[in-house]
Amino acid sequence: MQVFKFGGASVRDAEGVINLSRIVSTHQHDKLLIVVSAMGKTTNLLEKLTQSYFNQRDDAFDLLEQAKQYHHAIMLRLFPDNNHPVYHEVANRFVEIEWILEEPPADPYDYLYDQIVAVGELVSTTIVCHYLNDVGLKSKWVDARDYILTDNTHREGRVDWKATETRIRQGLPELLKDQLVITQGFIGSTSENFTTTLGREGSDYSAAIFAASLDAESVTIWKDVPGVLNADPKWFDQTELIPELSYLDAIELTYYGATVIHPKTIKPLQNKNITLYVKSFVDTDGKGTQIRQSNESLPVPSFIFKVNQILISILPKDFSFIVEDNLSDIFSKLHQHHIKVNMMHNSAVNFSISIDDTGENVTALIEDLGKRYDVHYQKELELITIRHYNQQTIDRVLVGKAIILELKDSYTCQLLVRKLSI
Ligand code: ASP
Ligand code: MG
Repeated sequence: MQVFKFGGASVRDAEGVINLSRIVSTHQHDKLLIVVSAMGKTTNLLEKLTQSYFNQRDDAFDLLEQAKQYHHAIMLRLFPDNNHPVYHEVANRFVEIEWILEEPPADPYDYLYDQIVAVGELVSTTIVCHYLNDVGLKSKWVDARDYILTDNTHREGRVDWKATETRIRQGLPELLKDQLVITQGFIGSTSENFTTTLGREGSDYSAAIFAASLDAESVTIWKDVPGVLNADPKWFDQTELIPELSYLDAIELTYYGATVIHPKTIKPLQNKNITLYVKSFVDTDGKGTQIRQSNESLPVPSFIFKVNQILISILPKDFSFIVEDNLSDIFSKLHQHHIKVNMMHNSAVNFSISIDDTGENVTALIEDLGKRYDVHYQKELELITIRHYNQQTIDRVLVGKAIILELKDSYTCQLLVRKLSI
């Protein structure tokens, strides 16, 4: 059997859903489990809605209305019959958010976030599943929360692999026998049946969890790019497709911030030796990228750009050394504030980290660190990582930039830079 994953961009409008059905129809004789994300930018919208509700601003209902309208427009194109059951089912999903909004928030933010944001995936899969059935592709809608079990770390649920594998193996092979199975990415549930999410862009990871538990032959992630490129076309004019990638290089590239695949996706596939394809949903005949076991190194240097970095330097107030005790304290604070480190460097009296400048939680972290350390920071930096680097590639990315911090090992070079104002 195979697992397909379609992200938000692939189903951002009615044409996207039709295109998905075309891709699926060429595989209708295979056993296929299809993981679908929320449509377009729905997750961002629901995230905004959650913030607005939590802070009791008055636009939460407007944002909900926007989400409804957006999906309604897509449904009108896919389901001309306005008595189609899909309308009722989707409306019911949104009612769950309405119920939450009607009362003032009494639960922690991260918990509320998961209950609200998960609706995006529940709605998208409801629409996709009905459409596939309407065009003759027999499909079964499955609630991922019945299969993917996590702890209660809301917004970053940690998967209970044993329980998840057992559920998936008990329930899904039978369903896959004579129909397609459509399910959500990104969402799971706790043992008490509360909805959790696996972290932003987590649908790839969901696909990997299903694939690993079912011993799938392969996973295909359908994207709006031709495959894994050696740089994000957003930042680089001339990019090259990487036709084959080892699991190790894929893990490293995503670890340093390549956004093409969610970083947690590769490991479960590597453990089961399942090939991962990254292909274009636009040019479906394109070869894409194949990720599997291989000892080959990257064929071309690869560049990963992360903008909006903040470099935080942490110094003990009493001029003592940075020792293990400080480091473990600093890391536990990072964890509390949901912050991931992109680059770090330590000297005897100074520990520096570069992180995404995500606003409120970074301010809170700096305040928190300030209680025990002297804290300095620089904003608006860029982090450039080059895998398989040489001097020429370094020179190429440094045009118009000044280096703030540079780290190299034999294969990877990380440059934290500031744009020179000219
Ligand atoms: N819809 C979720 C997000 O946008 C999960 C995903 O797309 O992978 O983060
Ligand atoms: Mg998405």
